[in-house]
Amino acid sequence: MPGQNSGMTEFEFEVPVVIIGGGACGAVAALAAHHAGAEVLVVEQDATPAGTTAMSQGLVCAAGTSLQAVLDIADDAASLHADILVKTRGQTDPAIARAIAEGSGPCIDWLTRDIGYPFAVDTGFRAVYGHSRQRMHGWAGHGGADMIQLLHQKLAERGIDVLLQARLVDIIAEADGRVRGIAVERPDGRIDRIGCQALVLASGGFAADPDMVTKFMPEAANARHNGHPGNRGIAMKLGAGLGAALADMGSYQGYAMLADPHGITVPPGIIVEGGVLVNALGQRFVDETADIAGMVHPVMAQPRGTAWVVFDQRIEELCAYTLEVQGLREFGAIRTAATVNDLAGIIGADTTMVAATLADLATADCGTTDGTGRRWAGISPPRWPLRIVKVCGALYHTQGGLQIDAGARVLRPDGTALPNLFAGGGAARGVSGPSYWGYLPGMGLGAAVTLGRIAGMAAAAQVAAAAMRDQKMP
Ligand SMILES: Cc1cc2nc3c(=O)[nH]c(=O)nc-3n(C[C@H](O)[C@H](O)[C@H](O)COP(=O)(O)OP(=O)(O)OC[C@H]3O[C@@H](n4cnc5c(N)ncnc54)[C@H](O)[C@@H]3O)c2cc1C
Repeated sequence: MPGQNSGMTEFEFEVPVVIIGGGACGAVAALAAHHAGAEVLVVEQDATPAGTTAMSQGLVCAAGTSLQAVLDIADDAASLHADILVKTRGQTDPAIARAIAEGSGPCIDWLTRDIGYPFAVDTGFRAVYGHSRQRMHGWAGHGGADMIQLLHQKLAERGIDVLLQARLVDIIAEADGRVRGIAVERPDGRIDRIGCQALVLASGGFAADPDMVTKFMPEAANARHNGHPGNRGIAMKLGAGLGAALADMGSYQGYAMLADPHGITVPPGIIVEGGVLVNALGQRFVDETADIAGMVHPVMAQPRGTAWVVFDQRIEELCAYTLEVQGLREFGAIRTAATVNDLAGIIGADTTMVAATLADLATADCGTTDGTGRRWAGISPPRWPLRIVKVCGALYHTQGGLQIDAGARVLRPDGTALPNLFAGGGAARGVSGPSYWGYLPGMGLGAAVTLGRIAGMAAAAQVAAAAMRDQKMP
């Protein structure tokens, strides 16, 4: 057992609730624990907190929020729960699914009302890719980088300490798995030991650890990684050492449309509003709307592993409110083709083939289903002049991890809980099923903030209960 403590370990200092990771999950866990009255410390390996959260679009799926109600969007926990079960083909943990479905709306309401995070429903994001309702919440005009900055501003306003450049390297625990503290490595190689009464692991997933990716998701081993380089699976490695169970370790979000070479995400709306994917031969090869995460594999299987997103001015304008389209414009990633020859030239494909693809596409219209199986309902295909962005497939973030219960307590393989260890976000098992096809848009941050809040509140409650017991002791 890593760091098993014989009672001899001395800690430099102690804080009741320690949270590892300053991403969305860790920051929200800290705000929730503090809100519940606990003294909290966030421990972050980087000099500036960012995590995968800062790379994200900052969109959180949540059901039954006050913000949805204002817009007359009828949604509730039961609808989200049903969508999770359908998307994962029933292969998800029922307790975690229910906890996220029931906790997401109250979490967004709490972050908006009590913490002052300016969420709004992203009404430009349709109910697609498995969502039956419009439930994407974000900070209009801001992405994940601003999200993490604002959350850390909220931590600072509340006097919640964040220990930067402190990398968790060990968990110090008793033989029964009770955590006594942690060991962190500082930039000069010094090891500091910090005692705690409850530990929350919010250190993200393992997409940046090539050995773990190869072991658990070999089909993604050759995918480009477009997530935070610090997500090296420390929670799973140390948690497993304490006897925790790992689950859904083959689960991840790949993404088919990373602009190449710009490294900017082409937002899903470009496809949803009518864009298509064409390969180096000038052919369409997939129903682009089938799945947001699974599309990565058809793209990786194309010649040279790349494809072109083809759309038009109407679609570009509809998505122009996103930071991603603004970035694509700024970096000149969007090219224009006025003729078949232009398009074939940009793609490097045979003109006849491109002409045939476009002729076929032109017959698609409302209510038709094309040769790829894509149903064109209420959306028309792109019209001249066309817009083109070259893309590749990439691995964005993992969705499996430490098995937890509905209270974010880390569980052993026999279903019993470790005494005082909690986890959420990329560190924990999410609700995306066992593989790449079960991911619902917004669920990375949905799981991060919802489980973060649950974990923070539970850790605080545990510490408070222990303090009450101690007071009653003669
Ligand atoms: C390009 C991109 C776009 C995305 N867009 C969206 C979106 O719009 N909506 C959505 O729902 N999801 C999105 N996701 C996924 C989403 O970003 C993640 O699911 C979410 O940010 C996970 O939050 P987290 O707090 O668990 O992890 P992170 O944000 O990765 O935070 C983990 C933190 O732990 C720290 N850490 C790791 N190891 C240690 C250690 N040993 N010691 C100390 N600290 C450590 C890291 O440095 C990091 O700061 C996107 C992902 C990518 C890559």
